[in-house]
Amino acid sequence: MIGLRAGAATDVGLVRTNNQDHLLVASPIFAVADGMGGHAAGEVASETAIAALREAFEAGAGSDGLLEAMRTANRAVWDRAAANRDYAGMGTTLTVVARVGQPEDAKVAVANVGDSRTYRLRGDDFQQLTVDHSLVAELVAEGQIDAEEAERHPQRHVLTRALGVHPEVDVDVVVHDAQIGDRFLLCSDGLSREVSDSQIASLLRRLDDPADAAGELVSRARSNGGSDNITVVVVDVVDPADEVAVVAADEAADEEDREDPGKGAATAAVDAGGAAPAGGWFARRRARRAAGASSGSSGARVRVPRRRVLSVRVVAFLILLLAVAAIGAGGTFWYARAAYFVRLDGDRLVIYRGRPGGVLGIQPVVAQVTTTTGSQVEPYHLPALRAGVPEPSLASARRYVANLRAEAVAAGLTAAASPVAAILAAAGP
Ligand code: MN
Repeated sequence: MIGLRAGAATDVGLVRTNNQDHLLVASPIFAVADGMGGHAAGEVASETAIAALREAFEAGAGSDGLLEAMRTANRAVWDRAAANRDYAGMGTTLTVVARVGQPEDAKVAVANVGDSRTYRLRGDDFQQLTVDHSLVAELVAEGQIDAEEAERHPQRHVLTRALGVHPEVDVDVVVHDAQIGDRFLLCSDGLSREVSDSQIASLLRRLDDPADAAGELVSRARSNGGSDNITVVVVDVVDPADEVAVVAADEAADEEDREDPGKGAATAAVDAGGAAPAGGWFARRRARRAAGASSGSSGARVRVPRRRVLSVRVVAFLILLLAVAAIGAGGTFWYARAAYFVRLDGDRLVIYRGRPGGVLGIQPVVAQVTTTTGSQVEPYHLPALRAGVPEPSLASARRYVANLRAEAVAAGLTAAASPVAAILAAAGP
């Protein structure tokens, strides 16, 4: 007899604007789908596949049932793509772990199409159970490139098999004997590309709780770059008694979380490492929807990232930030323009509004070109005037210019007649 206990997390990542991954936690069946297609098509493909898979599997479980359910999912995506021009060519990966037969049979089937993966941790042994249906995986299998080259290969995203792009699909299905203590990991390539197998394995060994493990794997993928959507489902094979106990405990915690926004935000932070709010919220809603029917009869345990509370906070924070930025920009502009200076431009004294050299790209503007030339002021002022002499207002700038002329007239000297002026004029430009 085996029971199943699961934790899941999904996240849009740091680069993509929408999450095209979908997950299913509906014990005894668990799945990850990574959609592809323009605009919303990728999301539609993965969601359609998951919904059809679930419905078909529930109608007729068993390993044959799983194969049939995969084919039904393929057909559902294909039909939907054919019916809507916007969805033409869409497809999805789909990797599935499902208990098949009777619980006492202890059999788990793993099905796969595409490059999402299912791994199994059993004691010291951590291995990928699925084969990637991708171009680079085939090149590696043929010995044409090595694993390292595959990671950087320009066509590393090209799939050789996907669900929904043809009316029929080849599905890999392998039935495994399950042991209590086995831990299955289903993930999209957003995890496997960002986090090495050995890092994944050590994290799965360290974190006992499947929900913690799923959340931590997603966080790790984000901190390693998060270049793609990241989706993780961790399924533990447990004693059936543990399965039931965990469900009860988790549902109680679930209610608590819903009533306590503070706690919800903390959970979200753990699960997602501070996810982008929009993607996170949708991911959460999706995960919650996926978890919906599992709460009745199953032992599935899902900690769904709670990001609604967080997103309100993030929005409030962003508004505050924008307000501060606006005040800052306004202040800077005011500072940049709330002054005048007098400068010798060519041979004219010009009054500018602003600050010499400008402030953060806000350049001074001409307030007045005076009739006064450089030769009509005492030469010792010229170096300062070439740099720009600040004045607090237009009136004071005008007074300053008038005073310069008055000073020169009072001195009774033309610029050329003054010995000092002669020296400076010779040294000047
Ligand atoms: Mn992906």
